Amino acid sequence: MTKFSELGLAAPVERAVSEEGYETPTPIQVRAIPPLLDGKDVVGIAQTGTGKTAAFVLPILTRLIEEKKQAPGLSCRCLILAPTRELAAQIGNSIAVYGRNTGLTHAVVFGGVKHGPQVRALARGLDILVATPGRLLDHVADRKARLDLTSLVVLDEADQMLDLGFMPALRKILHMVGKPRQTVMFSATMPPPIRALADDFLRDPVTVAVANQAKPVERIDQAVIYVGTAEKRQALIDLMAPEARKSTIIFTRTKRGADKVAKFLVEYGHKAAAIHGNKSQNQREKALEAFKSGEMRVLVATDIAARGLDIDGVQLVVNFELPNVPESYVHRIGRTARAGAEGRAVALVAPDERGLLQDIEKLTGLRIKGLNDAPPISGPTRPVQPQRGQGGQRRNGGGQGGGGHRGQQAGGGGQKRSNNRRRKPGGGQGGNRQSA
Ligand code: AMP
Repeated sequence: MTKFSELGLAAPVERAVSEEGYETPTPIQVRAIPPLLDGKDVVGIAQTGTGKTAAFVLPILTRLIEEKKQAPGLSCRCLILAPTRELAAQIGNSIAVYGRNTGLTHAVVFGGVKHGPQVRALARGLDILVATPGRLLDHVADRKARLDLTSLVVLDEADQMLDLGFMPALRKILHMVGKPRQTVMFSATMPPPIRALADDFLRDPVTVAVANQAKPVERIDQAVIYVGTAEKRQALIDLMAPEARKSTIIFTRTKRGADKVAKFLVEYGHKAAAIHGNKSQNQREKALEAFKSGEMRVLVATDIAARGLDIDGVQLVVNFELPNVPESYVHRIGRTARAGAEGRAVALVAPDERGLLQDIEKLTGLRIKGLNDAPPISGPTRPVQPQRGQGGQRRNGGGQGGGGHRGQQAGGGGQKRSNNRRRKPGGGQGGNRQSA
């Protein structure tokens, strides 16, 4: 078995890893770190939970230490792009941890917060900048950031950036970055536009792919409750009563839906809050902190807000509404049963969601047990696609992205995506990453 000491990491980086208590590198780390240290471009196909953040952060820290250069003001030596504020912040935290003995500087910039502190951090020049694409382009347009001196670029969760309509912004940013550069791309899946991005911007990339960690779907006790749309709230209250002491994430399809469910639960005496793209950064952080610390037991979330979040100890995931995309279901329930723990997932399935349930069962290859009998259906089994302007809900849930709101404008917001991967069994952003 490969050890961290065999990978060629700089001593201060290796020390931080051992201080973190990591004993052995994960498969993606074993395979991605050596080519990254060699300066090669890398395409990593891996999801959150596989240790992919350390797989790129550790070699990057090592290279930056060894190069012994300084970034001029406004620029960064390494740029890491992430789709959402939460993910960007999470990567920033990882850099702080793994880089704590290195003296390297980093900052995180994303939308939804004031420009001032970000501008001041950029002005000094940074070793590593973590950014969401929209806010970064704002800073470049304001001449508060320049990218032509950057020599290392990481695109994390590239498929999610595609989902959020960031593809034009990504291409713009990559054109601005100076050459020759080293480019690294991580993605849970490789739909054609991501493949094309890699072909256009990466030089002879080494591809490293790792399977999902133990497929979460198989470790999670999954069930559905068949219920009319109008009875869902009561069903949720009944479900939550015996589960009240468990740490629970409830997923809704829309931001408004998340707010309504959180409000309703609070009225019933649960400590709950919603996180989604319309909440301020401060509100999101506060809700997440309260949830992570156990002070608040229930978090109500939309897909994008929850994607990629590394929250341990979630015991129950409730799908208040099934997602329109089956992979999102796998991603959602992957929030529980992390790190080998047991988990439970219950979906409330209305008659018009039965087709979605079939799609999910087809994707996962599992039949999900019903806690009650499915009533016969007389109407259509396919949900009616929401009208435009109705809560902004698109098929892929785009529009809820945190750091993304400015970027979505920059990126045209509703960029059409290939649906190829949607139906591919096991093609999961699922285990993710999800994402997430
Ligand atoms: P990621 O896939 O980057 O989101 O990482 C998932 C989790 O695995 C994070 O909580 C990391 O702290 C943890 N982790 C990363 N690398 C290792 C390792 N080699 N050994 C143990 N845990 C790790």
